Amino acid sequence: MSKHGAKVLIVDDNVSNLDVLTRRVQRLGMEPHTANDGHMAMHRLNEEPFDLVLLDIMMPNMNGMQVLGKIKEDAELRNIPVIIISAVEDTNSIARCIELGAEDFLAKPFNPQILQARISASLEKKQLRDRADQFLEEQSVLQRISHELNARLNIDNVAEIVLSWAMDNTTAHLGMVGRLLGGGRGMKVLAIDGESPVLNRFRHQKVRIDHVEFERAVTTGLPQESDKKEGFLLPESKRRLVFPIRRAGVVSTLLILEDAITKRYDQKTISFLTNLVDRAGPAMANAILYDQVQRANQSKTEFISDVSHELKNPMTSIKNYARLMLTDKELNEQHISYIDVIERSVDRMSRMVSDLSDVSRIETGHIRLEIDEVPVKDVIQTVVTEMESQINLKKQILNISLEDDLIVKADQNRLVQILINLLSNAVKYSPAESNIAISVQSDGADMVEFHVKDEGIGIRPEDREKIFSKYFRASENGARGQVGTGLGLNISRQLVNIQGGKIWFESHYGEGSVFSFALPLIKNQDEPSKAVQPAIEELPEPHPKPAAD
Ligand code: ADP
Repeated sequence: MSKHGAKVLIVDDNVSNLDVLTRRVQRLGMEPHTANDGHMAMHRLNEEPFDLVLLDIMMPNMNGMQVLGKIKEDAELRNIPVIIISAVEDTNSIARCIELGAEDFLAKPFNPQILQARISASLEKKQLRDRADQFLEEQSVLQRISHELNARLNIDNVAEIVLSWAMDNTTAHLGMVGRLLGGGRGMKVLAIDGESPVLNRFRHQKVRIDHVEFERAVTTGLPQESDKKEGFLLPESKRRLVFPIRRAGVVSTLLILEDAITKRYDQKTISFLTNLVDRAGPAMANAILYDQVQRANQSKTEFISDVSHELKNPMTSIKNYARLMLTDKELNEQHISYIDVIERSVDRMSRMVSDLSDVSRIETGHIRLEIDEVPVKDVIQTVVTEMESQINLKKQILNISLEDDLIVKADQNRLVQILINLLSNAVKYSPAESNIAISVQSDGADMVEFHVKDEGIGIRPEDREKIFSKYFRASENGARGQVGTGLGLNISRQLVNIQGGKIWFESHYGEGSVFSFALPLIKNQDEPSKAVQPAIEELPEPHPKPAAD
């Protein structure tokens, strides 16, 4: 809006005042409109937009102050500047009007120079305010667009968001976002919107683009317009706009809008569309990268799953043949110890392979659990039996304390696997002849807590956040010397989580660690509200004896 042509409403009950002001406003190149009382002024203000109001204070029925009050109360009218017209001695009223939000005041009789200066200044301030408001509004819309775009990591969703903003803010009757196929092969439609049902046949299809404005949009990176009636997607289209969407400086996608009317978009709309496609570029780049990462991750997971599957058979053969060889009566001590090494190595390999295959199964959601009511005592028994030789080898002492008759809701084999992971870490990362303790008790509510405590090397504070991450292994010597994949804790955490539990640890570097997890408790059906008594019971063989040398 320029001051020239601004619409000014003059409100005065005095005809000669109206006349003088009308002429002055006209002379300033503005458009005067008049109202000779407050009611008429309000009526006119509600009918059409004005840029400025010149308002007399002293009027019958509704005086200027009341009109001003009504204007400032109304959210639609509040921003129109109001200049008060009053007798110069009426200071109280002038002060009151300024308090109510009047922009300025004019004293009667009018001085033409002051009149011009005050009108110009008020309009200028309004223009600046309007521009600031518009800028803020645009910024908030662009922020919303960015927010919506960045929340999506799928290229089709990003294209749909771009298209819906473009369609909502233009008169286009067809909109399309398509990805360039390279080698001049056209474009793949990512999103299409419009009034015509024929558009459905373009959805996710390839379309040819061989018109000059497409090529120009791609080579220049600038929006192109055409009103030559050729190659429009809809026969009734009269104009087409092509906006290039750039990723890393290269045009990879186009936004195409077709209009059934010839009227061109104003500068504001073009600038909105330009801002829109500028924001769409990085969002599309992210979506494409995310898609590539997902695919690569999927291929890696499939590869790991295939390889671990393929490795299982040869490992079983090696183990079986090693066992078969042990039956040979003619073997000497040394041969037997070699075969023993082969067997232990294959066991280790098979644990690693099964860790890898667990990770890929958990990631692809292909892990199957058999959730049941599992007696804790049985689980601990299995774990102790399986770990006994490893513990004995380091002459460590295992203490077990567990509450009576605890039953958890879990997959028994997976629970054994979690405990073996934690116990074998306690063994690996603790010195010979140290104490290790397993304790299991109810948390007093509806979970069973398992704790595996060691007197080992502990975990450095800087490693604590990473401890459950995939492939993490502490870099210090004490940990590095041990065989491992860095997958055990990650798998344990995922297995605990998918069984509805949680896992955590406490550790003092150089002193030892306690790894704990909790799984849902199955309460005694007969006495559901019974407080849990911490009865500690020793298993029949709680302390595996250190192996004799
Ligand atoms: P792995 O033992 O195969 O390396 P894990 O995922 O079980 O893999 O453990 C990851 C890392 O966490 C280990 O390499 C080790 O550095 C550290 N860690 C795990 N348990 C303990 C423990 N009880 N005491 C000290 N460090 C541990």
